[in-house]
Amino acid sequence: MILLDGRKVAEDLRAKLTLDVNEFTKKFNRAPCLKVIIVGDDPASHVYVKSKHVACQKVGMLSEIVNLEASVTQSKLEIEIQKLNIDPDVDGILVQLPVPKHIDLTSVLKAIDPMKDADGLTFLSTGYLWSDFEHVQPCTPSGVIKILEYYGIPIKGKRAVVIGRSQIVGKPMAALLLKKNATVTIAHSHTENLKHVIQESEIVVVAAGKMGFFGAEYFNKSHVVVDVGIHKDENGKLAGDVKFAEVSPIVKAITPVPGGVGPMTIACLLENTIQLAKMRMR
Ligand code: NAD
Repeated sequence: MILLDGRKVAEDLRAKLTLDVNEFTKKFNRAPCLKVIIVGDDPASHVYVKSKHVACQKVGMLSEIVNLEASVTQSKLEIEIQKLNIDPDVDGILVQLPVPKHIDLTSVLKAIDPMKDADGLTFLSTGYLWSDFEHVQPCTPSGVIKILEYYGIPIKGKRAVVIGRSQIVGKPMAALLLKKNATVTIAHSHTENLKHVIQESEIVVVAAGKMGFFGAEYFNKSHVVVDVGIHKDENGKLAGDVKFAEVSPIVKAITPVPGGVGPMTIACLLENTIQLAKMRMR
């Protein structure tokens, strides 16, 4: 079994990004800058945002967290986004998800300038993604492709199934696998005979958001399994959608949780911000 170590891939990517940031800073006399807006006080979201901030600093980028209270109005949030849209020193904007229930996410995504869309989730970025237009790509799916490529896992011509069809993970994951010439199936909560769909596939990207749902009965020795799920178990330990202990011995390759896709998501966010900075300064 090949352990697909996302920490190692992320470390290598960060080393390359550090050089990119250095070069950019020398050329333009300022470092690429990411601003992260966080609404409310959800502890998990604050931990994620802090990690993003620290990761930016480690590669020499500028980063700032904009804290807005949970009761912020839609218009106040969008005014904050507008301020960042027109700030010439800001290259990337990210609104940490989820946002509180009273906030209309569609409207928030429309408010972000697609040329500063560090998460690659605005509707224009999504259109670019499905049109094979060069632009930033959503971070988690982009990280999955980088892990597969790093370990030399063939994608071209292979059958891949993505389990989950969310805007953030499932749909863009399918788009990127298709771009790499896989034959892609998107499975979701209404899919009939999921086991059969998985058995017919070689690459299985699991993003169902169901802790430990996928055990050994779903997989065989020809499967490359990428587990996107992140959960905390009853002991506070991180776990994925796949039962790693029973699945890892029987498959060809698998990502662990933690240490698989998670570290790549943040590294790809940095990469996106640097790419946007370069695009704006061209
Ligand atoms: P989501 O809840 O928005 O989407 C889940 C999808 O899975 C839905 O499309 C649903 O139809 C499908 N699904 C649910 N149960 C299913 C089943 N039994 N069979 C087939 N399909 C099923 O979740 P999301 O935002 O896409 O996130 C998925 C998981 O990935 C979560 O655990 C989340 O925490 C994690 N995540 C991790 C990272 C990372 O950096 N590693 C980033 C984003 C999300």
